[in-house]
Amino acid sequence: MERLQKFMASAGVASRRKSEELILEGKVKVNGQLVTELGFKVSQSDLVEVEGKEIYKPKGHVYYLLNKPTGYVTTVSDPQGRKTVMELVPKDHRVFPVGRLDIMTEGLLILTDDGELAYKLTHPKHMVEKEYHVKVNGIVAQEHITNLREGIMLDDGKTSPAKVEILNIQGGEATLSLIIHEGKNRQVRRMMEAVGRKVITLRRVKYGNLTLEGVQLGKYRNLTEEEVQWLI
Ligand code: URA
Repeated sequence: MERLQKFMASAGVASRRKSEELILEGKVKVNGQLVTELGFKVSQSDLVEVEGKEIYKPKGHVYYLLNKPTGYVTTVSDPQGRKTVMELVPKDHRVFPVGRLDIMTEGLLILTDDGELAYKLTHPKHMVEKEYHVKVNGIVAQEHITNLREGIMLDDGKTSPAKVEILNIQGGEATLSLIIHEGKNRQVRRMMEAVGRKVITLRRVKYGNLTLEGVQLGKYRNLTEEEVQWLI
């Protein structure tokens, strides 16, 4: 649902201000009824007429930013019948996840029905910077940090240089911030295993300039137009 003047503006009728004037002048009907109130909300399924002419708003794509909890598989459907991230977003669009977070990883996941953007974001050429907070068992020595920063040799090749900071060390556990561009399968877990540390918790906190701010665990929000433009 969105305000009538915004709907009209994005359908290309006129600017938002001019659309407000058209509404106040009694030139707009919604589902056959005259609407002169600026707060009136409409959805894609409403019939909007301006000066007797029906207007169409091209059906846009949807883009969700989900704060994924652990215990959900990042897939559209799971043959093993486990809970999937699809249960956490609306079902009225055929969205799919962009990239993947492991079942035991939580944090920022984008879902969209925009196949072109999803392809672009996961293509190595366009790899977006992703920040993870990872808690591991044991102390992380300077030597480990240097290895992680310089790149680690995994079965499927060497990882690109990462930005690594220690955020906290407490009770024999360390929490690190790790910023990487690539999206190799289980990359952070395998990087930590390679330096002899086991991951206790893993959370993606940032994707490009998108953060989890204001989105509680298990909840989602729509990306704003500016955020979508930034990703495109
Ligand atoms: N790296 C991992 O190991 N797991 C994830 O879910 C994301 C990045």
